[in-house]
Amino acid sequence: MAYFQSLDYAGDVLSSDIWILALILIGQVYFKLTEKLERKLKMLRAENITSSGIKKIKDEMDGYLQYIGGPAGAIALTSVAAASALYYASRPTPVLPPFDLDKQSEPQGPDMVHYSKFAKDGKDLKFMRYLYEDTLTIYDAVRRGAKESNNGNMLGWRDSKDSPYQWMRYNEALLRAKNFGSGLVNLGLRPGSSTLVGVYAQNCPEWVLTEHALYCYSMAIVPLYDTLGPDAVSYILDQAEMQLVICEEDSKVKLLLQKPSRYLRKIVCVKEVYPETYKIAAGVNVEIYRFEQVEKLGAEKMNKEVPPRPDDLCTVCYTSGTTGNPKGVMLSHENVIADVSAVTLQLGDQRPRSSDVMLSFLPLAHMLERTCHVSVYMQGGSIGFYGGDIRNLMEDFKALRPTITPAVPRLLNRIYDKVLGTLNGSLLKKSLFDMALSSKHKDLKRGIISSSTMWDKFVFKKVQESMGGRIRLLVVGSAPLAGNVLTFVRCALGCVVVEGYGQTECVAPATLTIQGDAKPEHVGPPLPCCAIKLVDVPDMEYYAVAGQGEICVKGTNVFMGYFKEPAKTKEVLDEDGWLHTGDVGTWLPNGTLKIIDRKKHIFKLSQGEYIAPEKVENIYQSSSYVAQVFVHGESLKSCVVAVVVPDVSTVKRWAQGQGIEGTLSDLCANPQIKKLILDDILDIGKRKGLKSFEQVKDIHLHPDLFSVQNGLLTPTLKSKRPQLKQYFKPQIDDMYKNLD
Ligand code: AMP
Repeated sequence: MAYFQSLDYAGDVLSSDIWILALILIGQVYFKLTEKLERKLKMLRAENITSSGIKKIKDEMDGYLQYIGGPAGAIALTSVAAASALYYASRPTPVLPPFDLDKQSEPQGPDMVHYSKFAKDGKDLKFMRYLYEDTLTIYDAVRRGAKESNNGNMLGWRDSKDSPYQWMRYNEALLRAKNFGSGLVNLGLRPGSSTLVGVYAQNCPEWVLTEHALYCYSMAIVPLYDTLGPDAVSYILDQAEMQLVICEEDSKVKLLLQKPSRYLRKIVCVKEVYPETYKIAAGVNVEIYRFEQVEKLGAEKMNKEVPPRPDDLCTVCYTSGTTGNPKGVMLSHENVIADVSAVTLQLGDQRPRSSDVMLSFLPLAHMLERTCHVSVYMQGGSIGFYGGDIRNLMEDFKALRPTITPAVPRLLNRIYDKVLGTLNGSLLKKSLFDMALSSKHKDLKRGIISSSTMWDKFVFKKVQESMGGRIRLLVVGSAPLAGNVLTFVRCALGCVVVEGYGQTECVAPATLTIQGDAKPEHVGPPLPCCAIKLVDVPDMEYYAVAGQGEICVKGTNVFMGYFKEPAKTKEVLDEDGWLHTGDVGTWLPNGTLKIIDRKKHIFKLSQGEYIAPEKVENIYQSSSYVAQVFVHGESLKSCVVAVVVPDVSTVKRWAQGQGIEGTLSDLCANPQIKKLILDDILDIGKRKGLKSFEQVKDIHLHPDLFSVQNGLLTPTLKSKRPQLKQYFKPQIDDMYKNLD
């Protein structure tokens, strides 16, 4: 989607073909000799290799000169000797997994419940609640951070795309939050978790200040976001009986005033508000304040803080959903602290530190981003905000140079596609890239994670630099991630990459891969705050006895219920406290969970076969010609069809090779291009084991990406299926007409 189109590395991953040639020659010689060298080096590996070690290796290798012969061989071998010795001397120590990679969790009892290896009490269903005795709420977490960092930098931002980051320290942020919270109380809000306050803003320091201001008085925060649309926003304002909303800017204030809720009395705006907006507000009996004005009000008449208890509500997160009204997921302080503490415990040495800097660009309305914030604050780390324009994201990465970043698969897919795109047409680049990847993958499998090998210098430097060059921990989740992309990211960035699985109803991750595990295509073992079991889905022929079924989560991270929706809560939270996620998983022999299907988006074709369109989409997504795909089927039809948004660069390149010119719209209308893409995805589908009824029978090519802005993606970048179906109805009808 347009969101990540700025991630353009075209043409600059590799530096110069001469270097490449030289490296390939050396590399080839190196690989030919590897076996023999391995034997000779075995003895030396155990030792601490010093300069005498280097000489020893060189002497050993001189013996092989006869074998290779000639001065070219001598030069190559000398280089290899030096490189090998250097490599072995400076080889980083492996990242140790916290427990046995082959036994990450085991089934217990008749229900075959899996627990974390850390959850010693898990078997008695006592799950981790906190890691530090003094940190039981999010309110406590920031105060711990202030101490841990000795009042270090907390929140960073920059005024323009060209200016440097400036920072607000912990104590200043805490004071401003307290003043602002006190100001809100002065404006008439009642302390306590039954007071729900909306925040309608992009990620920015004021978002975080608002959140912590509310916690100073035990109030709860309700994030609002653009893609909810005016109807859903006014539904939320009514349901939450919200009197006050904090807005980022004039346009958002106007939007709230378009369909004024009967409860809304006050809006606090971070940026300037235009005179006409004040007039509209006065007309509907709403008062507008500026953020600093409320801070001042609070400081002038300071109200005593009312810190929250662990079981107090901290947030209601409305899930945008795909149908009906949004549902408000209620989470307590304990829910969030339990999840964050469990992740921190499992990460061990890799956990956030006070010296860490995180880039905040995923929406704060989503709990993945919120939990990352809390885990960084809890240790006293710093968080810098992106500038608000996702097209400049890479500039923000370069300016902030973060050490930690959360990511979603779509971002990583973009990076992967762009890097691979630069290799097309150059055999040299491709060979070197493959060699580099294979060498780093070998290291990775031994637990060695590094960004300072020669491969990093010559091949992966640009990718690393595009993200600031300092990333040491990347947390990915929220949607399926292809194994080859995950392995590429691990090798290319040379940092610890962990993948989590969960949903808002259990805060964020319920499982997380462990550091030191190089295998992709699973989501790790349960975290210490919860247990996981699989239950039968007979319709889809998934049975728990066979290690497959709907993923159910129970633990301290499981939500309090949907706000004012007891019936909906009952649909997903059973009497024993198990959250039924709707996702289908299977246990792998090493005790990690793999997501294999989804119970929700499935439909039966007229011949009685079930289709899980997301599974088919994920497979087709790996075609280099495909940027996005939406697979559609109907119970009255016997086959599925798809709308495909082609990948501009690959399709254009192919078209040029065939002498076909034109805009992407022209190319989409070209039957040759359609055939190319259809053949490619069918071929991939076949290779990846799709049954013939799962394969699409026709496709429609569409030139514009599905995006949050055009209402076809949720803020977490998932397809909005009913909206896509409605939007492409004429094209879908056409395809079926021709197939009937
Ligand atoms: P949300 O509540 O918006 O965070 O969405 C949660 C849903 O995202 C889950 O129910 C899964 O369907 C999906 N999801 C989250 N993490 C992963 C993952 N690592 N792999 C596959 N699907 C995921």
